[in-house]
Amino acid sequence: MRVLVVEDEVRMAALIRRGLEEDGYAVDVVATGTDGIWQAEEFTYDAIVLDVMLPGADGFEVCRRLREEGRWAPILMLTARDAVDDRIRGLDAGADDYLTKPFSFGELAARVRALIRRGAVDRPTVLRVGVLSLDPASRRAWRGDDELVLSTKEFALLELFLRHPDQVLSRTMILEHVWDFAYDGVSNIIDQYVSYLRRKVDKPYGSEMLETVRGAGYRLRATGSTPADPTAGP
Ligand code: CA
Repeated sequence: MRVLVVEDEVRMAALIRRGLEEDGYAVDVVATGTDGIWQAEEFTYDAIVLDVMLPGADGFEVCRRLREEGRWAPILMLTARDAVDDRIRGLDAGADDYLTKPFSFGELAARVRALIRRGAVDRPTVLRVGVLSLDPASRRAWRGDDELVLSTKEFALLELFLRHPDQVLSRTMILEHVWDFAYDGVSNIIDQYVSYLRRKVDKPYGSEMLETVRGAGYRLRATGSTPADPTAGP
């Protein structure tokens, strides 16, 4: 197992390297964000230990760049004590876990082991299905290059469809995921909201990505529904 450590503090980097090597890992250490990106693009790592505060690109930037390029090595971010905002930003940038400085080496080693067990799984921070994309962290959604203006419920509904492309979602399932259990309103609320969403996602483009499956529910078609769609990419 090979681990990349991106940390500019020499003593900290040396400590992590020594500990991980004693645990049997092959360890590469770089001291800037730029080198971290280069190294992680050039080689395949089983895990990356990434400090947030780095010269060049900071840890968030490194993480975001690697995820954008489809590099899914699990990333453990090292954040400053009590910097809740850093943890949120790190996780939203595509990190898998974080550890607050100062930490014990034992804890770092345990987290690295856990991440390696999980493996490099695709988990894009931005969901994409066909021409639709949605970023849950920034709460923005697009069709092609057009940004969609969605209400909170419409956004939640679109996110649910994007997480289950080509699957039929029953009204019950949609209700359970997008509304809470206490919901006791009108029974055709789902149909209403799907219709709102269609007005923004399909109608202006003359497409039918959101289709009704009679007697079953709704389905977001990932492909094939809009052959003449001018906004569809290659
Ligand atoms: Ca640092």
